[in-house]
Amino acid sequence: MNITEINAKSLLRKHKRIDSWFAARYGMNLYRGCSHNCVYCDGRDERYFIDGEFGKDIMVKRNAPELLRNELNPARKRIPIKKGYFMIGGGVSDSYQPIEEKYKITKSVLEIINSYNYPVHILTKSTLVLRDLDLLKENNENNKTIVSFSFSSVDDDTSKIFEPNVAAPSEKLEVIKKIKSKGITCGMYLMPVIPFVTDTKEMITASVKKAKEIGIDFIIFGGLTLKTGIQKNYFLNILNKFYPHLLCEYDMIYQNDKWGNASDEYYHSINQIFFSVASEYKMKIRIPIEIIDGYIDENDKVIFILDCIDYYTKIRNKKSPFGYAAYSLSKINEPLSSIRKNIDKINGVGALTKKIICEIIDTGKSTYLEKLQIN
Ligand code: SF4
Repeated sequence: MNITEINAKSLLRKHKRIDSWFAARYGMNLYRGCSHNCVYCDGRDERYFIDGEFGKDIMVKRNAPELLRNELNPARKRIPIKKGYFMIGGGVSDSYQPIEEKYKITKSVLEIINSYNYPVHILTKSTLVLRDLDLLKENNENNKTIVSFSFSSVDDDTSKIFEPNVAAPSEKLEVIKKIKSKGITCGMYLMPVIPFVTDTKEMITASVKKAKEIGIDFIIFGGLTLKTGIQKNYFLNILNKFYPHLLCEYDMIYQNDKWGNASDEYYHSINQIFFSVASEYKMKIRIPIEIIDGYIDENDKVIFILDCIDYYTKIRNKKSPFGYAAYSLSKINEPLSSIRKNIDKINGVGALTKKIICEIIDTGKSTYLEKLQIN
């Protein structure tokens, strides 16, 4: 592994709207490259990683804590940054990859976020997160911390092929138990499931069952994307080594979509399997609003709930106006309660959506979403 220390120009990504997959308002990558080197990692796509070899050439953003401190210090800001979750990890590098043991950048960042009292959502595949359990507990005392782990399945042998440098799923589940025992919310990101390997009903059931057994609070599910170029070539090479008989099937579902998506039919079929299994086990398939309630502002809450309703509606094969309404609302700067009467003038907001929004503004909850989660 080659380590290069760099001084980044900027760190904090401020999302234009709350990201309903992670409940995050802010994101950051503390490293570039990831020695976990998962076979399917999107981070090695040439659009994100251009210097060297993704799993071997790791860049450490040495000045990340300093950059974050400057961003959060109200004395340096005309408008302080608004309340919301800070996402640490996920995307294109794992903040708890092995090099973190030496550099402790993630640890410093957590200390800074705690000192400014913002909630965090960690997404990792590493057991090293346990080192910072005290900091996470401290964050959880004042906010509702979320710690999530990603899995392509809970099968240790299969994971050795696709996630060669991370702890086995069984170890990650043990770590989750420890974190949960401290009262911290834990999520499972069951993504990406590997087509024709970990996307079967048996494999998905095994994952959901395990998650239920240890009290995981929610599961977010997703399929694999394979972008033409380095990412797809790398993945298919390994597939050819271990599952050569599947190559033709991959050709059928991945037809060089610009974003690396498989066919709609394929995603639809795995979503249906997941939905039926999750329903059977009564598992939440979005981050439950009651977890993040109080730590996001009113507009973000409305948008988050509408996005959840959109997801629950579409997974039932029904048309949904809610996603577009959430998008339109994300362009509004004033508090939605102040324009309550005129909310149906906003693009995409019909009578039903207006009713849902007004209920959220008035009572803080949505009975419409609650019904979708139960049935
Ligand atoms: S842990 Fe995440 S960022 Fe790192 S290689 Fe695996 S998928 Fe990519």
